[in-house]
Amino acid sequence: MSKIVIVGGGVAAYRALHRILELDPLCDVTLISDEDRPAYERPMLSKELLTSDKPLRSLGVRGSFPNLTQLFSTRATKVDRRQKRVLLDDGCEISYEKLILATGSRPRRLEVDNPTSERLHYLRTAVDAEKLRPFLCPGNRIAIIGGGFIGLEVAASARALGAEAVVLEAQPRLLARVAPESLSTWLHDLHKKNGVDIKLGAQVDQIAEDPSTGGMIVRTASGEIPADAVLVGIGVLPNVELAVDCGLDVDGGIAVDIHGRTSDPYILAAGEATRYPLERLGLLTRSECWTTSSDQGTIVGEAALGSLGDGYREMPWVWSDQYEASIQYLGLPLTASRMVTHPGESQNAWVDIAWDDAGRFLGAIGINSGRQISELRRALRKGLPIPAKFGLETQATL
Ligand SMILES: Cc1cc2nc3c(=O)[nH]c(=O)nc-3n(C[C@H](O)[C@H](O)[C@H](O)COP(=O)(O)OP(=O)(O)OC[C@H]3O[C@@H](n4cnc5c(N)ncnc54)[C@H](O)[C@@H]3O)c2cc1C
Repeated sequence: MSKIVIVGGGVAAYRALHRILELDPLCDVTLISDEDRPAYERPMLSKELLTSDKPLRSLGVRGSFPNLTQLFSTRATKVDRRQKRVLLDDGCEISYEKLILATGSRPRRLEVDNPTSERLHYLRTAVDAEKLRPFLCPGNRIAIIGGGFIGLEVAASARALGAEAVVLEAQPRLLARVAPESLSTWLHDLHKKNGVDIKLGAQVDQIAEDPSTGGMIVRTASGEIPADAVLVGIGVLPNVELAVDCGLDVDGGIAVDIHGRTSDPYILAAGEATRYPLERLGLLTRSECWTTSSDQGTIVGEAALGSLGDGYREMPWVWSDQYEASIQYLGLPLTASRMVTHPGESQNAWVDIAWDDAGRFLGAIGINSGRQISELRRALRKGLPIPAKFGLETQATL
């Protein structure tokens, strides 16, 4: 009976756990999470969990497994590779035969003078969402620092709840880090139409409490923005410290192969904390993507029990819901040299297909085109050519 320890409490950790218990219900397995509950559907936090009464969907384990231990609100502080043990913040230690690191990411902090205020928010966990939600109500204004996916989803949720939303983005366009100009412009128009005040090139100098109103003030070079609450959504940092401290190969993420194997044969890693080979494009990447973390979790669960299948060969695929719009993001379209736009299946729908100079498919962006993106994903998975209707020559190049 092997002794497997999993550090992490998100989707990657829980998919690994589910797979291990599926393959070996008697496996001696311990999961260590610093959150206060089993994994849940994190994407809900900026969407339905804010705007509806839908309960958070849990990914917890159902059924009883005699050799399963789950430690919540517990942090792994060190990995001792020589003695194969994990040290915990409560002073305990747990030995392993195989260790899975699924430590995910944490929000990047805004490095300006910030007060400690219940009105200043980051959004990563269920607890964060529970704290933010009461501020999104009619009559309130929320200042959102960062025009990325999380910031824009919260802006859409705020508007749906009748709150005012101001988005402050330091770059000259929204989503500049990940999206081509076509998507940035489309999202800008969408949010404008829905009443969001978007300020581009807005460098935040300070966030302060306003003693006269009890609210907050965001100070930028071009003025002050009063708000009832502030959300900072300026990206994430991978939690790689445990891996770095114990000497694993880490390069912008814990280095793994397609099976999630690290530079130590007894340690595997999965999810947002990893940098993995995206074989189809011949490069190494780190994804901030639910499906990648989920699939990699399942793969490392198998690998921890000694079973190596095909490994992770998918293209990362991210979706985002804002107002009535569904945005789909497949592969790495930002690296494209040619972007070809195809009409979607309804009026307010389109698909951008990204190619490189050699005519190699790099990814796609779909607006209200879930079916077409699924078609592309299916073709990729089966090793089939990109369907002819999406061919390079069928539409004008942007
Ligand atoms: C608000 C929000 C909305 C999102 N929406 C979408 C979306 O619409 N579509 C999409 O594709 N993706 C979305 N994502 C991204 C997606 O949720 C993540 O990519 C995915 O959850 C990452 O899973 P993970 O298990 O790799 O990491 P995480 O979810 O970060 O889990 C890591 C876990 O490990 C714990 N941990 C870390 N270090 C330790 C330690 N030393 N000891 C113990 N525990 C530790 C953390 O607390 C956490 O519970 C969203 C993310 C957020 C925050």
